[in-house]
Amino acid sequence: MLDHTLRSLSTLLADGKASSVELCRDYLARIQALNPTLNAFITVDADKTLAEADAADARRAAGQAGPLTGVPIAHKDIFCAEGWLTTCGSKMLANFVSPYDAHVIERFKAAGMPALGKTNMDEFAMGSSNETSYFGPVKNPWDSSRVPGGSSGGSAACVAAGLAPAATGTDTGGSIRQPAALCGITGLKPTYGVVSRYGMIAFASSLDQGGPMARTAEDCAWLLNVMAGFDARDSTSLERAQEDYTRDLTKPLAGLRIGLPREFFGEGLSGDTARAVEAAIAQYRKLGAETVEVSLPNSSLSVAAYYVLAPAEASSNLSRFDGVRYGYRTPEYKDLTDMYEKTRAEGFGAEVKRRIMIGTYVLSHGYYDAYYIQAQRLRRLIANDFAEAFKACDVILGPTAPSTAFRLGEKADDPVQMYLSDIYTIAVNLAGLPGMSLPCGFDGQGLPIGLQLIGNYFGEARMLNVAHQYQLATDWHARAPQGI
Ligand code: GLN
Repeated sequence: MLDHTLRSLSTLLADGKASSVELCRDYLARIQALNPTLNAFITVDADKTLAEADAADARRAAGQAGPLTGVPIAHKDIFCAEGWLTTCGSKMLANFVSPYDAHVIERFKAAGMPALGKTNMDEFAMGSSNETSYFGPVKNPWDSSRVPGGSSGGSAACVAAGLAPAATGTDTGGSIRQPAALCGITGLKPTYGVVSRYGMIAFASSLDQGGPMARTAEDCAWLLNVMAGFDARDSTSLERAQEDYTRDLTKPLAGLRIGLPREFFGEGLSGDTARAVEAAIAQYRKLGAETVEVSLPNSSLSVAAYYVLAPAEASSNLSRFDGVRYGYRTPEYKDLTDMYEKTRAEGFGAEVKRRIMIGTYVLSHGYYDAYYIQAQRLRRLIANDFAEAFKACDVILGPTAPSTAFRLGEKADDPVQMYLSDIYTIAVNLAGLPGMSLPCGFDGQGLPIGLQLIGNYFGEARMLNVAHQYQLATDWHARAPQGI
């Protein structure tokens, strides 16, 4: 099971060598055996999964199967799924059963892909280690004393450990790419607006984007074909012709210009990560690509800009959790104000409260110009840097994260250190560009290292081509953690 890709599972089903019900049973058994250790899932509901698998088998028998019909997938618990507990990793929603499906969930249902369950995540997707989840931290399958990254840590861990062949994630500042890197899998954050945010619980609406997490770039391309598409219910969803993201996978890389940002290769990069990324660059040269040095002079300010803008948006988005309509409500209160205060004091964890306070502060009268407007200006400069860089290259390459998986608790008390885990990923969200992470080696302790690719707007197909060609030439993505 560990080494199955979506392609191999699709073939098994098409050849009649396995049914969807059989596949789902196998994965559910593996979840039952390993989830107590990994804590990658918040909710598993075998009856629901098997009913969906049964329907997929019937659809195949009727000759109406698509390529992924019957192949199961796990969903980050940020996506509303009808009839499923949808917690967003928070006590605030620990009792919330969604009455409707997110657009992304509708899409996977339409493709006939049964849901294996809802994966653990940092509370409201705020974190880089999965330690802020109300449901406890997820463990990294490569070393259970370490974090899987975050906020899509449950999705990354379950794919790495073979508990699911693929999973959905969301990325506001790195939450698909950074856990993909720390768990040794492949993950893609699309161009802002390509995947609908309808039914995806909002953190920072101008940055949030859903995307696929799987073992290979080819699998991510298949999944993006399912996920992407216009949706009138999300006002930032882009009305574009449907693309086939697999169309360029097999193109040779001769003539490809890879941009290497000077700022990504300076101090702060650990030795093993730097070596692995250098080796990947050498591999790309062998594949016919040329490299050019580019510069992203404002990228060092991306973390600062993000930690003004994302909390500002979060403070507004999270005001809806007030104990009135749904979710947690404090059991005892004097009056309405008291109810609001106690509900929010008890329902949110420390990191979420920190973000709400920062966000409210930077938006308040007198500070708005000094912080929020300045951060918006920086955001423009950061996007301009990328536009300039893409004049000289087709794709940008660098590390995904400054270090490999760190120990549980190591950065939990130091928010700034935690925030710096996303130093290489955040600028991509601020600019709205597509980015991905793919495995490119291991450090001295056997922990996976991620390589980041950044594409130009709507450059997903090209970026997937660049990733796929690397995966044809290397086998880092095929390694699976032992000993779990
Ligand atoms: N780690 C970043 C944060 O805590 C990014 C999270 C994300 O992409 N959802 O905000």
